Order: sequence, then C-alpha cells, then structure tokens
Amino acid sequence: MPVEKPQIGVAMEKLAELLEARNQLISQSLSLAHGTPLHIVRGEMQYLHASDGTRYLDLVNNVSHVGHCNPHVVEAGQRQMAVLNTNSRYVYDGLTEYLSRLSETLPDPLGVGFLVNSGSEANELAIRLARAYTGNYDMVVVEGAYHGHTGMLIDLSPYKFRGLGGKGEPEEWVHVLPIPDSYRRPEADFLEEARTGLRDSGQVAALLVESMLSCAGQIELPDGYLSEAASCVRENGGLLIADEVQVGFGRVGTHMWAFENTGVVPDIVVMGKPIGNGHPMAAVFTTREIASSFGGMEFFSTFGGNPVSCAIGMAVMDVIEKDDLMARARDLGSRFKSGLNSLKESHELIGDVRGRGLFLGLEMVRDLESLAPAPEEAAVFVNRMRNAGVLLSTDGVYHNVVKIKPPMVLSEKDVDDTLEKMDSILSR
Ligand code: PMP
Repeated sequence: MPVEKPQIGVAMEKLAELLEARNQLISQSLSLAHGTPLHIVRGEMQYLHASDGTRYLDLVNNVSHVGHCNPHVVEAGQRQMAVLNTNSRYVYDGLTEYLSRLSETLPDPLGVGFLVNSGSEANELAIRLARAYTGNYDMVVVEGAYHGHTGMLIDLSPYKFRGLGGKGEPEEWVHVLPIPDSYRRPEADFLEEARTGLRDSGQVAALLVESMLSCAGQIELPDGYLSEAASCVRENGGLLIADEVQVGFGRVGTHMWAFENTGVVPDIVVMGKPIGNGHPMAAVFTTREIASSFGGMEFFSTFGGNPVSCAIGMAVMDVIEKDDLMARARDLGSRFKSGLNSLKESHELIGDVRGRGLFLGLEMVRDLESLAPAPEEAAVFVNRMRNAGVLLSTDGVYHNVVKIKPPMVLSEKDVDDTLEKMDSILSR
C-alpha cells in the first residue's frame, strides 16, 4: 500500500495539541529533547520518523542499542508475550538461560545476577548489597555523575544535587571525587586525587563509578585510575561498583564492558539502558558471596526477570553477537572520531574530541586558551543539526559537550553524512 504523504499543516496542529495536553498532564520538571519539540511516530533501526515525514538519524539514543524496533527483538517479545509472562518465583527456561548468557560475558567471579526494571533500581540494589556485605554506610561518587532518579540516587548524583533545583552540597554520607578530566586539568595527578579523596572518605560501603563518565561529559578514565581507586576503596573496607548503564554491551568497541580494559574486576556490575533495547530492564551482577549478604531477607522484584524480559534481553544479545556489533562500534567509532578530529583542526569551537567506540564527545569552547565553555553555541549547534536531520544532545558540567552514542546499527554513510553536515553548520 502506498504510504500517505503527511500533511505538514495537519502535523503541526497535532503537535500543538499534544504539547498542550503535555502541559496539562505532565510535570514541568520533564523537559523535551533536541530544542524545538519533535513529534515522533515511528522508529526504524538508527532512524526516527516524525509526523511531518522527516526522517532523523538518531545519534543519541544508546537505549535502542541494536536499532529502534529491531525486528528480531520485536519478534522475540511478541512471541513470548503470547506464550507466558509470569514472575521469577516460578521455574522457566528463559530466566536461567538469559542469566547464564549475561554471566558468560563477565569475568569470574561475577557469576550471580539479579534482574530488575531500571538502571535506578539496579544501582539501588547494588548499594544495598554493598552496605549489607561491608557493614559500612557511606558512599563515594565522582563529580558530575548521574546514577538514577530515586531519593538515594539523587543524593548520590552530583549532576542533580549540584544542578538546578538541587541543594548544592552532598549529604554527610556522600563523598565526591573530582572529575579526572585530562582536557580541563592536564596537569592534575588524578591517581593521587583518587587516593587522597578515598583516604579522606574513611570507611565506606562502595565507590559507585561509571567505567567511562557519561553525564560528566563523555570522559574516559585516565590510565590506572580505576585500579588505583579500586585498591583504595577496598583498603577502606568498601567495594567497587561499576555503573555500565550507559557504556556497556559492547559500545566501547573493544570489550563488552567498558571496565574490561582497565585490568580491574569490579565487585558489582550494574547494567541497564541497552539491555532490553527499550524494554524496561536492568541487571546487577556480583559474586556469590556478596549476593548472599542480605542475611536471609528475601529479594523479589515483581517484573524483574519475567519471561518476556528474558526473551527480549536474549534477542538483544543475539543481535549484538550475530551482527558483530562490537566490531562495528570499534570501526564506526574510529571513523567518526577521526572525522571529528579533522573538524577540530578547522573549527575553533571544538576544543576536544574524545571517547571510545560509539561513545564519543565533542567539547565546545569559546576560547582555545582559557577553555571557556560554550554551552549556548553547543545548544545552537545541536538545534541546527536537528534541523539538518540529525539528533544529538549536550551534557557535561558546563552543558557544552555534544554527546554521540547512537544505536550501534548505523552505517558508514550515516557517519560521513553527519560529518559533512557538522562541517557545514560549524562553518556558518
Ligand atoms: N546510571 C547511569 C549512568 C545513567 O545514565 C542512568 C540513566 N540516565 C541511570 C543510572 C538510571 O537509569 P534509569 O533511568 O533506567 O533508572
């Protein structure tokens, strides 16, 4: 059947109607993405289609890891939904098969998994486990981090408590390490900062840290940082929790998990976002010993690990493996990064290009000497790219880092077209 051509006027009217309804029904504390509001009606692998007929290349939704509406994932979910959906207090094949599939990607001794419904829930559980296991209460996080929307995680997210509407200072049980940002502070001794910060924190339950920093501005941890931090926190009786919610599942191109090139095995690994390709799922993996530290108290999540979620999670793993998406992230990531580095040569607004695989950042500055952040320019750039059909967004403590973390199914042509559009917009 021929697709009906959308009528722009009708699309605009519908958008205005939906915006009005949102204003009535949704809290003002939820803002819209990409500047001018977008009315999206369909997802198709690396693309999102708007109601006015425009197709956007999505460079920012790392949740749709194997592509929006990936047919293999859709089919797996639909099939299982028609057969059985129950909870993990029953025995069914999918649960143990899926946990085993995930655990195979992790180093020993991280062999025991918990399945929950969101990254926030998974981080909460990881912290509860760390507190139960160590008997300590305090926590350490890194400046600029976001770990989730629950009460406890807002207190553990400097991105929130230091941001708009936040109370500014951490709670007394929260210790904050500086961002190991080698672009803004090239002279700093980051390992020493971690040592001092962790020594001053005293007895702690855990250091909760992303294996690559996302909200803090797409920052790679410096060499040796995670292993130094791990040994210091363990000396203080605490654990290392790696938050892989943004950077996991092969996105970094060389490994399934971003911590893997550091030589450190965390005590607890937290997975989320891409795990279900948009289906609400998350996981916590740890050692048998840590997993048994609730002293007999039951752990149960009504929806966590249900047969439909397991089928979907399994299908995501199938696609990552069959389509060799990790290698794709590596190759496309390096193509993208070298293109961005060329842009940096000719456009002074770009201060730094960084990241690994398909987790990249473009830091915009007003001045290459003072590194004065350029958040307004970054926002204008993102909006112009959106008008050119490419979805991006900004992050970082100064909101001046353009982040690139697309579905991993994009093509060489998508990368090349994007670089061309970026070049032309930056030249204006
Ligand atoms: N950890 C990190 C690093 C995140 O980026 C997020 C979400 N942006 C979370 C945890 C929380 O995940 P969720 O929104 O699924 O609760």
